[in-house]
Amino acid sequence: MLDINKIRADFPILSQKVNGKPLVYFDNGATSQKPQVVIDAISKYYQEINANIHRGVHTLSQLATDAYEISRGKIQNHINAKFSHEVLFTSGTTHGINLVTNGFASLLKAGDEILVSALEHHSNIVPWQMLCEKTGAILRVIPMNENGELIMAEYDKLLSDKTKIVTVNHISNALGTVNPIKYMIDEAHKFGAAVLIDGAQAVPHLKPDVQELDCDFYVFSGHKICGPTGTGILYGKEDWLNKLPPYQGGGEMIKDVTFEKTTYAELPHKFEAGTPNIAGGIVLGTAIDYMNEVGFENIQQQELELLEYGTKRLLEIDGLKIYGTAKEKTSVISFNIEGIHPYDIGTIIDKLGIAVRTGHHCAQPIMNFFNIPGTIRASFAFYNTKEEIDAMVEAVKRAKMMLS
Ligand SMILES: *Cc1c(COP(=O)(O)O)cnc(C)c1O
Repeated sequence: MLDINKIRADFPILSQKVNGKPLVYFDNGATSQKPQVVIDAISKYYQEINANIHRGVHTLSQLATDAYEISRGKIQNHINAKFSHEVLFTSGTTHGINLVTNGFASLLKAGDEILVSALEHHSNIVPWQMLCEKTGAILRVIPMNENGELIMAEYDKLLSDKTKIVTVNHISNALGTVNPIKYMIDEAHKFGAAVLIDGAQAVPHLKPDVQELDCDFYVFSGHKICGPTGTGILYGKEDWLNKLPPYQGGGEMIKDVTFEKTTYAELPHKFEAGTPNIAGGIVLGTAIDYMNEVGFENIQQQELELLEYGTKRLLEIDGLKIYGTAKEKTSVISFNIEGIHPYDIGTIIDKLGIAVRTGHHCAQPIMNFFNIPGTIRASFAFYNTKEEIDAMVEAVKRAKMMLS
């Protein structure tokens, strides 16, 4: 069991007041808060070992390089990648997806098909559309039902020899649906298609095992798992990473450069051009250590309790509708109140110290499906409490009274 007071004490921002009220931070789907160990590790890096990596012979450069590569190893262990060179540092999920779509431009031809799910974040839609424009490939959409679950019978029908890539999130940021990715990966592989999993919303709640999943690519952001912004990971199977051309050209990614011809460095450096976010990459390892110390079983138990309690409490409010009622879901509650714009509720409850997200959550197609402009989204983390949910429910009731 979690000692919630001890956990909360790890996050200095949580004891703040906002607009004169105790902060209730329920926007974890957008970014998580950072524990003191992560904040400290950033200044420790700059105070003690700051130097460029993989370049200098001097001591600090060696220390920084070692710390960066140790962090890569931690992440490799965490997601159970076979090789550390399958773990690429990126600036986030968006960067990881664009790296892959850019690489596939040279492998696809007109008429090839890319399957994308109806539940995707814009960053797992738009890069694929850009790839289709470049190559003449065709984007097909795996539909969902009213509960916000992908319809597997339709997925099975869409798969064919034309399918080259399937891209789907592990967990939906807008609705919290956990997708049956193991099934989807296995089915796609029967047709020789590659599968990219957008794990941005999954890694805060669970520990993915990329070898067991057998996915070809798995991407996530550091800032949603207690790590710094501007950090992320692209896991790719060695074979695929060897097949894809580099994304950006520059320093660090080359073996030899002449004006006639350049040869590229080995993995992972082939995809890591330029000076990266060194402090961020190192501290992402610190964040992952922290999450593992808290323990993913504890995290899941606390979040499940919050999801159940929050769902029950919110449904006490007349005219409140929850979007996303999948059997398998995480601690995200997307809702609206009949006749009231989500933005108006969000603005009023912010005055009461409650931070939620309102809008389309970078997933406009989902909002279009439900025929709404957006929702209010409360997304809980393991450091949230039932008392905070009570505060949100009271605030929403007050906002509703003021607005109706
Ligand atoms: C947050 C998020 C992204 C984008 O992540 P960035 O950190 O902004 O690159 C993509 N997909 C999902 C499901 C997300 O939740």
